[in-house]
Amino acid sequence: MQRFLLSAAARTLSLKAVFRMGEDKAYRTFCEMRWPENDGEAVCPRCGCTETYSITTRRKFKCVACHHQFSVTSGTIFASRKMSFTDLLAAIVIFVNGAKGVAALHLSRDLDCQYKTAFVLTHKLREAMAREDMGRTLSGEVEVDGAYFGGYVKPANAKENRRDRRLAINQNGKREVVVVMRERDGKSVTAVHKTEGAGVATIKATVSADTVIHADEASHWDVLHAQYETHRINHSQTYSDGYACTNMAESFFSRLRRMEIGTHHHIAGRYLASYAAEASWREDNRRVSNGGMAAKVGDAAMAAPVSRQWKGYWQR
Ligand SMILES: [Zn+2]
Repeated sequence: MQRFLLSAAARTLSLKAVFRMGEDKAYRTFCEMRWPENDGEAVCPRCGCTETYSITTRRKFKCVACHHQFSVTSGTIFASRKMSFTDLLAAIVIFVNGAKGVAALHLSRDLDCQYKTAFVLTHKLREAMAREDMGRTLSGEVEVDGAYFGGYVKPANAKENRRDRRLAINQNGKREVVVVMRERDGKSVTAVHKTEGAGVATIKATVSADTVIHADEASHWDVLHAQYETHRINHSQTYSDGYACTNMAESFFSRLRRMEIGTHHHIAGRYLASYAAEASWREDNRRVSNGGMAAKVGDAAMAAPVSRQWKGYWQR
């Protein structure tokens, strides 16, 4: 049986389709995301046994071998969920559809759930997205660049050009640098540092030695020449000389900037890394259908362990 989210019907996944499928089929879809290797049939998370008793009325399973009781979301990022499976799937669809990100307030209105539920859920979905870049190494041709984000941003800053943004370093101690490393037509990795130069160590740890790097003229990138074939573009003169350019990195920053200004208005420093990872995930998956994106986020969330950061967040 083909998994629903991978079927042709799910390629364009509308909210209407999600609500029309009903709770049983939505539940089945979560089982397929949790246990893809077993066609959506339960596997004991404790001992790996594939024989379980199904306690259908409570949507729980009991392992035949070790008697462990579990549900489809036990031990995942969605553990102790408060939403129905239909709402949870709808939340994923709304979230992936938001090209500029989705504000928790927006999600709480769309799903008629409490703001705090939506707040935690959006952060859990970001955590699932971020897991895709974890431990990733980049190669081929990689563009690197940094830009300042976070703290309080006056709307006028949006119109500032890149050089002025750099000069804004000292205006607000809360602003931090997002450094992006982006393969041309490939994957990205992001990191948050106090200064752009501090990102060099991350670049060395993330980008493999045989990579061709493209960077702008900022002097802290000079050290990259010792380790990589590095091409520079002087942005005060031109944005591309036909080869050396950081346009892919720029389009990532443009998306993160639109998320910051257009959707969230303010990004608290402690969450900047997760918003950056979300923006790079959206960039890397920009050509994937929304059903395909929902499947990726759902799969990642169901494979992710219980969130240390967000578990019981509001009970603390
Ligand atoms: Zn077991």
